[in-house]
Amino acid sequence: MIEELDPFKNAQKQLDEAAKIMGLDPDAHALLREPMSILQVQIPVKMDNGRTKAFTGFRVHYNDARGPTKGGIRFHPAENLSTVKALAAWMTWKTSLADIPYGGAKGGVICDPKALSPGEMERLSRGYVRAIGEYIGPEIDIPAPDVYTTPQIMAWMMDEYSRLAGFNEFGVITGKPLEIGGSLGRGDATAKGGMFVLREAAKKLKIDMKKATVAIQGYGNAGEFTHKLVEEMFGSKVVAVSDSKGGIYSKDGLDFKKVKAHKEKTGNVKGFKGAKNITNAELLELPVDVLIPAALENQITSKNAKNVKAKILLELANGPTTPDADPILLKNNVFDVPDFLSNSGGVIVSYFEWVQNIGGLYWDIDEVYNRLDKKISTSFWEMVSTMEKYKTSPRMAAYILAVERVAKAMKTRGWY
Ligand code: GLU
Repeated sequence: MIEELDPFKNAQKQLDEAAKIMGLDPDAHALLREPMSILQVQIPVKMDNGRTKAFTGFRVHYNDARGPTKGGIRFHPAENLSTVKALAAWMTWKTSLADIPYGGAKGGVICDPKALSPGEMERLSRGYVRAIGEYIGPEIDIPAPDVYTTPQIMAWMMDEYSRLAGFNEFGVITGKPLEIGGSLGRGDATAKGGMFVLREAAKKLKIDMKKATVAIQGYGNAGEFTHKLVEEMFGSKVVAVSDSKGGIYSKDGLDFKKVKAHKEKTGNVKGFKGAKNITNAELLELPVDVLIPAALENQITSKNAKNVKAKILLELANGPTTPDADPILLKNNVFDVPDFLSNSGGVIVSYFEWVQNIGGLYWDIDEVYNRLDKKISTSFWEMVSTMEKYKTSPRMAAYILAVERVAKAMKTRGWY
């Protein structure tokens, strides 16, 4: 792996930089540089053709000083341990910055979900939970959806865990469908939280969102809902969107409903009538006010950072920007809102789901959105005041806040 594109090295680099700025205790720093524990499993799955295929899965517990670990599960052909470790570290900072009582974890399975039948997908999901069953639990580690995992997959996983436990354990996993303990508002929570952050960032930068242009990379759960919400909440023009096969651009704006219908029909956003086909790389360099990477890690690097023209970079993906890109963006006055703030709406509403599961009392949608707005907007302004206090970037300010809380919890518990 090219050094700049090694996600876990990048996560460590970011932590090291923050530790320096904040003067973090070296013993705490050492504890926070590595995950607490790592599990790698083999998952045998009976395929539709009668043969058995062995899949490899991971689950990483990064740090649980502030509470049970929390984080999604990715199903991806290029999944690897370095990425899962980095994502687990970022979950630790995310839950801490949001000030919800969790640590950080992440899971991944190396597979190509597009090549699996629904039956194979179900057997793989259940097999993964059997393999990591003792490593998760509502008070241990609580998984959730991420890249290519869905509420249906969460349902199978919850069901498999409940079979192992011998009773219904809704609180073991979040992002579930509504009929089995899901929360209202969890589906679009990542995008919704991102929009609250964007609203505050625009306020800070004095940008009128009604007149702003927006480009969105990625059309999974976060990207698609973001397209919808940018139109609904701000009336801004979304001039470009993309998915894994490529993107489209129209200076007059792309209507959400029409793009969604086109994608449902053809499987891609490409080929949309009246728009120009562009590549994912071209999308990042468009002259827009707001750029929203909502796909995978390592999209903005030392190579293309200088070509980013957006005023606000809202990181809805995890790890879309490498540490080598950061100083370039800072120099060019791109206000780069870090992933573990911008996309924290997902885990914040996951936390609400878990609270509702444990309490057995379910909230209406307004309560979910109001609490999410309050939490995520508070984090944004805390980050801004820390930026001013330390005269540092948004990412480093967010790191300082998050790391400080985890370090304090470790200290109080007597870990160092
Ligand atoms: N996978 C999402 C993330 O990266 C959500 C995690 C969760 O809800 O636990 O934040």
